[in-house]
Amino acid sequence: MNTVIDLIGNTPLIKLRKASEITGCNIYGKAEFLNPGLSVKDRAALWIIKDALKKNNLEKGGTIVEGTAGNTGIGITMIANYFGINTIIVINNNQSQEKKDALKNLGAKLIEVDPVPYANPNNYVKYSKKIAEEMSKTSNKKICWANQFDNIINAQAHIDTTSVEIYNQLDGNIDAFTCSSGTGGTIAGVGIGLKEKKKDIKIVLSDPDGSSLCNYIKNGKLESSGSSITEGIGASRISKNFGIAPIDDAFQVNDIDALNVTFDLLKEEGLCLGSSSGINVAGAIKLGKKMGKGKNIVTILCDVGTRYTSKLYNVEFLKSKGLPYPDWL
Ligand code: PMP
Repeated sequence: MNTVIDLIGNTPLIKLRKASEITGCNIYGKAEFLNPGLSVKDRAALWIIKDALKKNNLEKGGTIVEGTAGNTGIGITMIANYFGINTIIVINNNQSQEKKDALKNLGAKLIEVDPVPYANPNNYVKYSKKIAEEMSKTSNKKICWANQFDNIINAQAHIDTTSVEIYNQLDGNIDAFTCSSGTGGTIAGVGIGLKEKKKDIKIVLSDPDGSSLCNYIKNGKLESSGSSITEGIGASRISKNFGIAPIDDAFQVNDIDALNVTFDLLKEEGLCLGSSSGINVAGAIKLGKKMGKGKNIVTILCDVGTRYTSKLYNVEFLKSKGLPYPDWL
């Protein structure tokens, strides 16, 4: 009998028709939105919880605490429920209402905070750590801070599963992999895993505007310009997971390109995805154009579009930001 845990991973690889046609390459998307928590982050959440249980840092009746843009929290809560563990999630109040609702509905205790830079002690990640530390002082059950940004068991999930699946699904015929980075777990783990099997594979970052990571890869400076409505990706610091990612090149991808790709994927291929998938596929198209025809390129379809209905399918919101909107709405 399958449990919710067994449903995580082993996602299909979808050949993306339009991206492949435009570039003359084979561009594939790993369908991570089909995980039971509807995002790529289920994998990291499972590895973090299993590792904490194994190391006796967490137990049934205990509590896991995490700061998240939402998807990791959803994965954590779902898996924690399965193990009889409580969940406390700290989230920036500007994240989509759909993700906050999903967290509450799953049973997480949700703490919303104002978005502030990482340097500020009230930053959502630091605040989640503080909560875990405070609770540990008085609780008679184990309290664990998941620490997805700097806990490299996150990347390990993708070394052990995602990279192996991608390599096997293409019988090793893969030239490049690209995706965006939130914690860096996906790009680090898939990058390390694929390079172990194929040394000359190219690992490329697709980075949204407003994030400093592309500049860091290109010229060693953590500098950014512009902004993005995407959630869960982009960063202004080098997390431990991002720090171990074997990245060869990087592209900056703007929201206009990402949203046009997101809406095309829905209208022309029936794939309803979040905007980080749009950044990733737009990055894969840039990469295909740069590498030349005939290459096999893989990216990540991170989560479902319905998680962002109030933003991605809200014409007024998109118009107010000067962004494209679906012409059928
Ligand atoms: N896309 C979405 C929608 C996400 O929530 C996240 C994680 N925050 C990512 C992409 C990036 O994944 P990672 O943390 O592995 O870099």
